[in-house]
Amino acid sequence: MCLFCKIVNKEIPSNIEMENENFLAFHDINPKAPIHILVIPKKHVDSFNEVSPETMAEMTTFIQEVVALVGIKESGYRLISNVGHNGGQEVNHLHWHVVGGAKLTFPHLVDANPQDFF
Ligand code: 5GP
Ligand code: ZN
Repeated sequence: MCLFCKIVNKEIPSNIEMENENFLAFHDINPKAPIHILVIPKKHVDSFNEVSPETMAEMTTFIQEVVALVGIKESGYRLISNVGHNGGQEVNHLHWHVVGGAKLTFPHLVDANPQDFF
């Protein structure tokens, strides 16, 4: 069973912000911003590559509710889902990072100069 499935099953404790029948929102253990919440489907899905449009539609509503609950709807935030090796995905259970609570930077996403790839 994967790490986030264990969090869903409460085998591993987490700081839960919001929960319904199908989704869970909990605080990232290593926050990269004042607010850093992970939103996951309770049913295991490896990544965004495999998620159904129906699950994403429901997840969209859930994420919007989380964003409103933690008070960052108006101030703004960023949604990130890392996918696979190049995306830097470390936990192979679909998750959306919801980050906010401060003005976010937009760092370089590759170590090399992006122009060098062309
Ligand atoms: P990824 O790199 O796969 O997009 O993101 C995985 C995230 O899960 C990381 O931001 C990491 O800090 C977080 N994380 C890893 N293990 C745990 C854990 O046991 N509990 C919580 N709450 N977050 C975790
Ligand atoms: Zn899982």
